[in-house]
Amino acid sequence: MLVTSRKDLRDNGWERVLNYFRSKSMWMLHYCTGCGAIELPPTMTSRWDMERFGIGPMATPRQADLLLITGYLSIKSLKRVIYTYEQMQNPKWLIAFGSCPLNGGIYYDSYTVINRLALYLPIDLSIEGCMPRPEAVINGFNTLMKGIEQGTAVGYKRYEQNYAWYKKNQDAVLNRTKPVFDSGVKQ
Ligand code: SF4
Repeated sequence: MLVTSRKDLRDNGWERVLNYFRSKSMWMLHYCTGCGAIELPPTMTSRWDMERFGIGPMATPRQADLLLITGYLSIKSLKRVIYTYEQMQNPKWLIAFGSCPLNGGIYYDSYTVINRLALYLPIDLSIEGCMPRPEAVINGFNTLMKGIEQGTAVGYKRYEQNYAWYKKNQDAVLNRTKPVFDSGVKQ
């Protein structure tokens, strides 16, 4: 992003430097729920080699800043994904792979699968396809890196500002997973 004035440089210069380095050094946690997971090994290894962009895998949420949801998400998995996202420190970004997190994909009418991840967590970037190929994944990473550098990929801020709305949606769907012995239903 271009510096427009001396005042702009003074007020926002440091944030821009930080954003530049953040975009070039992402630690990625992949929550491999669906078929898109199979595209990650070639994306990570020598054929497409995502490390050349400064992106590396990370085993724990507390040290990661990029969360990948690689396909459909069951209601039970959603709960774990929310825990995982909330354990990650700001700034953090979320990428959704394929049509399933966007609209349910081929599972759109399944009672166990959520249809729109965006109702429950803030998606910074969606990579379309069923499933997206490594070229599309790399292209998505590059788009996200530009968004981070320009300061436009701020889903974590949206999540904080609209937390009540996200929480209401989360509760509405997660209540469906109450154990039978808690629900008041007589056996
Ligand atoms: S979008 Fe397609 S490839 Fe991805 S999880 Fe759904 S069905 Fe599988």
